[in-house]
Amino acid sequence: MKAWYDLHIHSALSPCGDEEMTPNNVVMMAKLVGLDVIAVTDHNACDNCEAFEKVAKEQGVTLLCGMELETSEEVHVVFLFPDAKSAKKFADYVDTRRFKFANDADIYGRQLVLNENDEIVGEEPNLLITATDIGIYETVALATEYGGVAFPAHIDRPSHGAIQMLGDVHEDMGFTAVEISTLASDEFVQSYRDRGYIILRNSDAHYLENLNEQTCNFVELEKVTARAVLDKLAKR
Ligand SMILES: [Zn+2]
Ligand SMILES: [Zn+2]
Repeated sequence: MKAWYDLHIHSALSPCGDEEMTPNNVVMMAKLVGLDVIAVTDHNACDNCEAFEKVAKEQGVTLLCGMELETSEEVHVVFLFPDAKSAKKFADYVDTRRFKFANDADIYGRQLVLNENDEIVGEEPNLLITATDIGIYETVALATEYGGVAFPAHIDRPSHGAIQMLGDVHEDMGFTAVEISTLASDEFVQSYRDRGYIILRNSDAHYLENLNEQTCNFVELEKVTARAVLDKLAKR
């Protein structure tokens, strides 16, 4: 069956994410636009995954819990995990490998931790949009170790995309899927498909109105579960 997806969505935890990007708002918007599978992927942290997981379960939307990690080369790589528990374990590890300096909320925005009722229960004090010391060549093995998958984000974008920063997505990085922004040409997309990559077209939404709609993209799955999505992306 077709599972309509959007696997790169920021919440209010990302300083650049709109404060309306709460668990209930995002999940309800996903339902409204007809998405079957979504993923919450904040910069370098996973603190809102648990609240999203509770809301998504209640609303019958399949959720992957993830993170958009910034590598030491300043490339963005999206990690996806089957549940909040495994995402948290990964986030705890990333926490030991990211550079920490205080967020200035007036400049970058607040970094809100929310509960399943969209109530603010905390604020991440250190700025999340910084590089980690995790290299891009480590990412696939790391994702596997923590029970998930990783793919390079918006590879065609000048800001934090793999092509601009490293020349290309190289085969020995080990990725099975790549994310290409919605602005890229059909020829560009086909060139990566020809190289054997699964192509993901996600919204990278920071605002509710930017979520993918059902008319955008789907993956064929026998059953719509987080595990089935991960297996598909990892070509297992
Ligand atoms: Zn990004
Ligand atoms: Zn993003």
